[in-house]
Amino acid sequence: MTHSLLQPFDQRQGWLWLDGEFIQWDRARLHVLTHGLHYASSVFEGERAYAGRVFRLDEHTQRLLESARMLDFEIPYTAQNIKDATRELLEKNDLVNGYIRPVAWRGSEQISTAARASRIHLAIAAWEWPRYFEESSHQSGISLQTAIWRRPPPCSSPFKAKAASHYMIATLSKHAAERSGFDDALMLDWRGQIAESTSANLFFVREDALHTPLPDCFLDGITRQTVISLADEHGLRVVERAIFPDEIPYFEECFMTGTAVEVCPVGRIDNHAYQRFAVGKSLARSFREKAMRLTESLDHAI
Ligand code: PMP
Repeated sequence: MTHSLLQPFDQRQGWLWLDGEFIQWDRARLHVLTHGLHYASSVFEGERAYAGRVFRLDEHTQRLLESARMLDFEIPYTAQNIKDATRELLEKNDLVNGYIRPVAWRGSEQISTAARASRIHLAIAAWEWPRYFEESSHQSGISLQTAIWRRPPPCSSPFKAKAASHYMIATLSKHAAERSGFDDALMLDWRGQIAESTSANLFFVREDALHTPLPDCFLDGITRQTVISLADEHGLRVVERAIFPDEIPYFEECFMTGTAVEVCPVGRIDNHAYQRFAVGKSLARSFREKAMRLTESLDHAI
């Protein structure tokens, strides 16, 4: 099942899992009066399958269930149900390497801020998506423009939830960056510290150490945690700390991490160009190797 990037997502072919059943892709329709659409009561995941197995499916499934709880709703399926459905979906769609998008949302029973009577829905879709950025960007590094929007303080929303509501400032920031000729945006937090990009975490390299912002108001990505676990075998220390933008020119390298981007070097932030990519590229290789080797628990092969 190969899709062109320009093919709209509602016009693709294949199987989708919706509320406990496998259905044809084009039958997955929503009513316009859906709470998730009006009030952003929706949580989702982004997962990747490598060589037929989903990387860290346990952690992603747990994060999905917990994200929903942080938005005060309970997904009516167990982690086991969701993992089984995910594996079966890959099989039915003949996907060996691909991207998986589970999404849960409040339905149409109530349209107001109160929504405790809403039915909770869950869908899972999967498709081929080899690279988030062009292959050439993985070689020469992507460019980031500092966004005008900032990640809000932790008292303003449950920031550990992978919730739709957190993404509008990311969309605005990414649009602005692309209009200015950049690939993506770098988001600061409300204090002016470097936070992350619009959909990935950030690492900087200096003198055998990885410096990465403390995830105290944004997602502590599963890829980020994996890269931290790989640092030691690369002879790198990990320093999680507050990083301010005036440090950008003093780092030797920068790279980003996320399920969609995997590990991707950054070649430029605003006017500062990075010339070195060696650490990012070798971590990218190790990450891929690890993803191929250590996917979900091996007794769950599909
Ligand atoms: N931050 C944001 C805002 C994201 O959307 C993502 C992608 N899920 C990440 C960080 C990286 O998270 P992960 O490594 O778990 O994909």
